[in-house]
Amino acid sequence: MIIQENIPLSAYTTFKIGGPARFFCTVKNEEELVEAVKFAHEKGITDATSSGAHLPFFVLGGGSNLLVSDDGFPGLIIKNEIRGVTTELDIESVTSESGFKFVSAGSGEIWDDIVAYTVDRGLFGIENLSAIPGTVGATPVQNIGAYGAEASHTISSVRALDTKDFDPAMPKFVELSNTECKFGYRDSIFKHEPGRYIISRVTFKLSKKGDVTMNYKDTRDYFNDKKILKPSIAEMRRAIVEIRTSKLPDWSKLGTAGSFFKNPYVSAVKFAELKAKYPTLPGFPEPDGRVKISLGWIFDKACNARGLMIGNAGTYEKQALVLVAKPGAKAVDVKAVADELITRVKEKTGIVIEPEVEWVG
Ligand SMILES: Cc1cc2nc3c(=O)[nH]c(=O)nc-3n(C[C@H](O)[C@H](O)[C@H](O)COP(=O)(O)OP(=O)(O)OC[C@H]3O[C@@H](n4cnc5c(N)ncnc54)[C@H](O)[C@@H]3O)c2cc1C
Repeated sequence: MIIQENIPLSAYTTFKIGGPARFFCTVKNEEELVEAVKFAHEKGITDATSSGAHLPFFVLGGGSNLLVSDDGFPGLIIKNEIRGVTTELDIESVTSESGFKFVSAGSGEIWDDIVAYTVDRGLFGIENLSAIPGTVGATPVQNIGAYGAEASHTISSVRALDTKDFDPAMPKFVELSNTECKFGYRDSIFKHEPGRYIISRVTFKLSKKGDVTMNYKDTRDYFNDKKILKPSIAEMRRAIVEIRTSKLPDWSKLGTAGSFFKNPYVSAVKFAELKAKYPTLPGFPEPDGRVKISLGWIFDKACNARGLMIGNAGTYEKQALVLVAKPGAKAVDVKAVADELITRVKEKTGIVIEPEVEWVG
């Protein structure tokens, strides 16, 4: 494993933004991962500026949910390329039981390759999460979700290096169950204890038979138009890819990290108050009594957010929830757009919205 210095992070994020990492390494297996964390610990002890604490480290997957500071990152970036070893796509089918199959993937695998792999084998469960950029290891972190599906619905367990009380001579790998991951809406234990767990493998429990999830208007409309009553799993994947392509920017061409903010949850009382002001505001009641509201609608109808530009950053023309960065944009520009949106939503609705995209720096 090679440790490099002063590596620009703009090449490693889908925003194509970010200053240099003081140190940077790529890890391809669990041994290299331990070595990387060991480096951060040792460097911290010998480094005059760190007063004995370990050098900060940050695990980077595909960089598709990050906004990296223009000043870069002052510690070690650990770029995760851990893959499995046993099959064509480095995925192991660990075991199978009646009606289900467990698929275990190295955390550095490209997420959409795993979705394609499972769809090809007729396994149900993650097809609605097709075409989400990034790596397998990040999927439990923010519990990725789209079109009525969430990673937490199929994650069986997560293997991770526990870096708390790290001892390079006795590195501790743990296997966290679905319950132990404490999944919520774009949330998990990995967000509450940032940096503690470095995920090396994720195991998904997928169904061998079943129906695809159609509880989302976009997918229902798509199949109604095509007069397909009972889509196959492959048809659903194709539909999701087509719908996403028509609605989202192509991150290989235009800097973005997808939806920049989480949809807010409000109490039923607050929702009624907002409905009185905005009668057509869509709301989705949750079992716990709260109502999830559409931030895209608030941006469009209440905040006039489409077309907002600051420097070379702004909202995407087809969906204001998605922030985009044109060539030359800086992290501060994107942050200024985000701050402006937070202010507008607070003024119009009283709600304080939270970013889904993580600030690194
Ligand atoms: C065009 C576009 C569309 C998107 N659409 C969606 C969507 O529909 N739904 C959705 O949920 N998200 C969406 N996203 C956001 C993003 O793709 C997901 O959050 C994705 O899971 C991030 O993966 P990554 O590998 O790029 O993670 P990164 O951005 O590199 O990292 C994200 C976080 O995960 C941590 N992390 C990464 N790997 C590991 C690991 N092995 N161990 C521990 N921590 C780790 C990082 O430290 C960081 O905290 C979209 C992004 C883009 C650009």
